[in-house]
Amino acid sequence: MRFQDKVALVTGGASGIGLATAKRFASEGARVVIVDLKQENLDKALPEIKAAGAPDVWGCACDVSDEKHVETAVQGALARFERLDVVVNNAGLMQFKPLEELTGEDWLRVLNVDLLGTFYFTKQAFLHMKPGGTIVNVSSIHAIETSPLVAPYAAAKAAVLSLTRSASLEGKPKGIRVNAVLPGAIDTPMLWENPNIKSGVEKIDRADVGKAEDIAATIVYLASTDAAFVQGAELRVDGGRLDQ
Ligand code: NAD
Repeated sequence: MRFQDKVALVTGGASGIGLATAKRFASEGARVVIVDLKQENLDKALPEIKAAGAPDVWGCACDVSDEKHVETAVQGALARFERLDVVVNNAGLMQFKPLEELTGEDWLRVLNVDLLGTFYFTKQAFLHMKPGGTIVNVSSIHAIETSPLVAPYAAAKAAVLSLTRSASLEGKPKGIRVNAVLPGAIDTPMLWENPNIKSGVEKIDRADVGKAEDIAATIVYLASTDAAFVQGAELRVDGGRLDQ
């Protein structure tokens, strides 16, 4: 029970990698907070997380790109659980458009969620975590090797790595560890939104598609004391796809 008496907050926790991560924390004894956009999706996810073993769970409707929402969610978590040990910055969205069709608004939409959302929760974690706290940021292999049609997403995920380095440097003297995970193709609703995948242009071998649980296990490892000496790491979890 690596997370007994700990409180873990997972953004985008109602679906895919976030839900698998919340369940994995629950199975290791954590009290779990999930934030996501829609209350109805939180209401569906919370009983699953409870059933996975969490002593207590709480869900908060929150748009991670709105700093006020983020402050309210963290205040709510602290009011209920009186501590915050782990933050997983997982909420994210992709958008598929050729460069000549992209607008500044498209860029800001993705950057606001994928980058600024990560920053807002990191700021709150720094304000409220005690030494021993830890943050895991979900980047992507697009941060280091991308494909067509996802320029804002690739830029945002690269910037998440940069933010991870800055936060790691500033977190170290506070006793807060900050690391990033870079998933490859993972079987979640987001993967199948990709028109390249739908149309078969980007033929990903089934063997190169991981499960949400593969990433959850990595995130929970990075958040655990097993990774006590892991600080500022960028861990690629793609089944070796980028090596081919
Ligand atoms: P998903 O679509 O199943 O889950 C993403 C969740 O984030 C959803 O529940 C969604 O409602 C939530 N979300 C989106 N915008 C939000 C906002 N503004 N505020 C709060 N919540 C918001 O997708 P997933 O694959 O589980 O994605 C999780 C993370 O993993 C994302 O950051 C994604 O970029 C990253 N990732 C996914 C893959 C993949 O192949 N699935 C690969 C690399 C990285």
